[in-house]
Parts: sequence; C-alpha cells; structure tokens
Amino acid sequence: MEIIPIKCSVPYNVYLGENLISNLNLFIDKNYSCALIITDDNVDKIYSENCIQSLNHLFPIYKYVFPHGESSKNINEYIKITNFMAEKSMDRKSLIIALGGGVTGDLSGFVSSTYMRGIDFIQIPTSLLAMVDSSVGGKTAVDTPFGKNMLGTFYQPKAVICDINTLSTLPNEYINDGLGEIVKYCILSGGELFRKLSKPFNCNNKEIISDCIKIKSEIVSSDEFEEGTRQLLNLGHTFGHCIELLSDFKLSHGKAVAKGIYLIADISYKNKLCSEEVFREIKNLLNFHGFNLQIPYTYQEIFDIIKHDKKKNGEFINLVIPENIGKCKIIKISFNELHQMMIQE
Ligand code: ADP
Ligand code: ZN
Repeated sequence: MEIIPIKCSVPYNVYLGENLISNLNLFIDKNYSCALIITDDNVDKIYSENCIQSLNHLFPIYKYVFPHGESSKNINEYIKITNFMAEKSMDRKSLIIALGGGVTGDLSGFVSSTYMRGIDFIQIPTSLLAMVDSSVGGKTAVDTPFGKNMLGTFYQPKAVICDINTLSTLPNEYINDGLGEIVKYCILSGGELFRKLSKPFNCNNKEIISDCIKIKSEIVSSDEFEEGTRQLLNLGHTFGHCIELLSDFKLSHGKAVAKGIYLIADISYKNKLCSEEVFREIKNLLNFHGFNLQIPYTYQEIFDIIKHDKKKNGEFINLVIPENIGKCKIIKISFNELHQMMIQE
C-alpha cells in the first residue's frame, strides 16, 4: 500500500492499494459514535457489505443508498440524507463514509461539511475518475437548475482510501471517463507520466493512478482554495464544461474534458501560444487513447456558453494554456480577446 500525504490546512493521507475495503478498521478512528455509508444503488450491491463487515465491530453503521447518476447530486437528495441522519440521531461525533464515484463523493462531502456545521468524512472512491481526481482536494458540491456544482464547499476528508480492486467491476465507459482526467495530469506534468501513457492504459497500473494523485496533491497543497495555481487543474475544463452543457450532459465529463483539451491545444497553436509539435503531441495522445475529438458545435456556440461560465471574473476569464508537455500556464484574457482567439481560422 502506498500513502500519499495531502498537505492542506487540515492534512490527511490518500491510501492506495488492494483489498483496503475489507480492512477499513485499520484506517478509521475508533472513537466515532456511529457511521453512515452513503452510496449509490450500483456500488451498494457490490461493496457495501464488505465495508460494513470491516467496521461494525467498532460502532453502529447506517447506510443511505441513492439512485446512481449525476441527477441524484441535488438539493432534494441532500435534504433526504440530512433528514435520515437526524432521524438516526447522528451527531458531531458521527462519521460519514462516501463509498462510490464522483457523484457520491461530491454529495457526501457537501452533506458532511454542512450537517451540524461539519462532521468528519472519509472518501472511498470506487471509480477511476474519483480516485485520480475528485476524491482528493476537498471540493464538494450539488447541482442546481442553474448549473453543475452551483452549491458547494471546500471541505477536506479525514482520509481517502483508494482500493484499486474496485476498478475491476467499473464499466469500461467509466474507465474512459477517468482516462480523460489522467490525460490532463499527463499534459500538466509531462515527463515519466507522459512516457507511461505511450502504452494503453490498464487499471492494474497502480503507478499511473498514484502519479495523478501525487500531482493533484502537490497542486492542492500549494493552493487549497483555488486562488492561483490550482486553476491549472482546469486544463481542458473551460471548453469541456461548455461541450458537456451543449450536449445536454449526454456526453460524460471525462470525454468532454478530452475534447476540451484538444480544443484549447488547437486554439493555443493557432494563436502561437504553443508550437505545432506540442499541438500534435496532445492530439496524438488523445487519439491513441481512443478519444473522439469531433466537436459538433460552432466556436460561437461555445463562446456564448463561456461568457456565462461561473469562473468568469468580470470581463475576463482565466484559461489554462498547454505551452508545452509538462508546462501549462494560466492566462487572464478579456472575452473580446477570447472571441478573437477562437474565431481566427
Ligand atoms: P464519476 O464518473 O464522477 O465517478 P459516478 O459517481 O456517477 O461518476 O460513477 C459512475 C457510474 O459508475 C455510476 O453509475 C456508479 O454507480 C458506477 N460505479 C462507480 N464505481 C463502481 C464500481 N467500482 N463498480 C461498478 N460500478 C461503479
Ligand atoms: Zn474534471
């Protein structure tokens, strides 16, 4: 097992290894009054029982199961969960265990950060995307009709327990989704990770998952509240979010991010912010890992959505530019400049 420290205001560890779910008692403080496992119906069927078995000699364990999918990441589900917790008399000494993918982690984190002004929680990510990206760093959220992640907090878990055996049951389409974020880390860091991704990705490759977590750890530890460098993690996301939205969320996050990375590389190259070679390397990497890079929307449609992006800062927007493999930078540009960059053909 590998231990990766996250040096935030409240430090914690990511534990990465095999068969960890059956041994949760080794990672969890024994002094909680009780614990609530929050999970979706798919993950529940496969992993809840093991989780409960490994903890129920320590304190009472409750379980809340919600229907899988992004559509559960909303305020109604949030209210149902917090009501359930109140009915069970959960208190400030209780623990929440988020068992599942990114949806479970975001929703459970938001519950944890607000229930009785905040109680401890542990992330047990079971999807590739959650392992390499969303479970680390303390972003929590629910969606509202006005947008994805409209309500949320920065709230760090007590620990993140990545049991890579869980990836053996994750459907392939979700593996590809996580791979979109892995490609992002690969372009941010370059070097060894770039070399490792010159071969097809395989979930048994713990090293690649570990590399991504370490890159995230470094970035999050230096800028927990996204005031500067943490924005690098938005590589491909400005355009990715627009593409997700334009597809009415039929296109999943990781695949939209892959298209977003391609688009920013293309625009950067056309505006001489990166070389043709860098653009080609990024395009080849995405193609090699099987991403469909077609963008069935016009640049004007994408630009119109960006203007409403929540990250906009007055008349300006921060964009992450892939100057080179392993060297990205954040630039602040006006919407007019962005428009010119995008329509220049
Ligand atoms: P994300 O891609 O952000 O992690 P979800 O939390 O919705 O998104 O997870 C993606 C889908 O995969 C969900 O339907 C979830 O139930 C399912 N899932 C998550 N982890 C596993 C797993 N280890 N085995 C099987 N299905 C899983
Ligand atoms: Zn993402």
